[in-house]
Amino acid sequence: MKTYILDIQKMSTEDGPGIRTTVFFKGCNLKCKWCQNPESIPFYRQKYWIKDKCMGCLSCLECPQKAISFDEDGLKFEERLCNFCLWCAEQCPTNAIEVKGREIEISELVNELLKDKVFYEKSGGGVTLSGGEAALHWEYAYELMDELKKRGIHTALDTAGCYPYKILQKLLEKTDLLLYDIKHIDNEKHKEFTDVENTLILQNAKRVGSLEKPEVWVRTPIIPDSTDSEENIKGIGKFIKENMPNITKWELVTFNNLCKNKYQLLNRDWGYENKELIQKEKIEKLWALAKKYHKNAVWSGATKLEV
Ligand code: SF4
Ligand code: SF4
Repeated sequence: MKTYILDIQKMSTEDGPGIRTTVFFKGCNLKCKWCQNPESIPFYRQKYWIKDKCMGCLSCLECPQKAISFDEDGLKFEERLCNFCLWCAEQCPTNAIEVKGREIEISELVNELLKDKVFYEKSGGGVTLSGGEAALHWEYAYELMDELKKRGIHTALDTAGCYPYKILQKLLEKTDLLLYDIKHIDNEKHKEFTDVENTLILQNAKRVGSLEKPEVWVRTPIIPDSTDSEENIKGIGKFIKENMPNITKWELVTFNNLCKNKYQLLNRDWGYENKELIQKEKIEKLWALAKKYHKNAVWSGATKLEV
């Protein structure tokens, strides 16, 4: 079985315990305005032109489908004509044309993930399935985690939970740790910021939050002017306290803007490009608030340097 994988990130320490490899699946059914991985949203492969690497040789204009042109803004792909032969990327002398997303067989991916088994074992780590939304590739994700568990590797699933519960229920059979996102408690704001309502996400949250197994952590991204209000943290805290008695951690994860060049490559404006990192004082205030609702509330991520 194959599916599109965006990236395999080794030595990750942010997506569960220990040293992990995080597998980023392609495709997501949310469109968070602050998304740190915009290239993970489409389910298909994409080509990017990296302006800074291009030496202007124009040899890519020989595209067999005549799907490439140049104008004053640089290289343009005519996607309607492109058949994704990838000739342009292969022959570009400076690797200025990159392809995001690759179809990978489960057996190939397992072999790649096993290369770091010694690090997982020594650190109490494992493999995390993320995205995009890994759960939307449920057959592949199930089989991948099954293969990993047969080899004694700890599995984590990072999800936004916006799909029918029976999918999640099936995946939980092979999941050791569920990282469950709750971004905004207010339904209208959730829709405004992510393009979907939070109704299904909160329904599924209630179900996973009452399970004995697997272990569940809730994660809330702290995004400036979007999710970082005291009202939102109080609302999520109250929801967790009343409906998710078995979660073992609530993690507030601060915003960073390291992905702004990804938006530039996609030729897309990003409303968060000029947003500053959260101040330490602010995240500590939100953390103190969160601790009133869950004894193991923590925060992680970057904060603004104070001078
Ligand atoms: S082949 Fe590569 S370096 Fe040459 S113009 Fe095209 S993108 Fe630029
Ligand atoms: S992938 Fe093939 S068809 Fe598409 S732009 Fe590149 S060379 Fe042309």
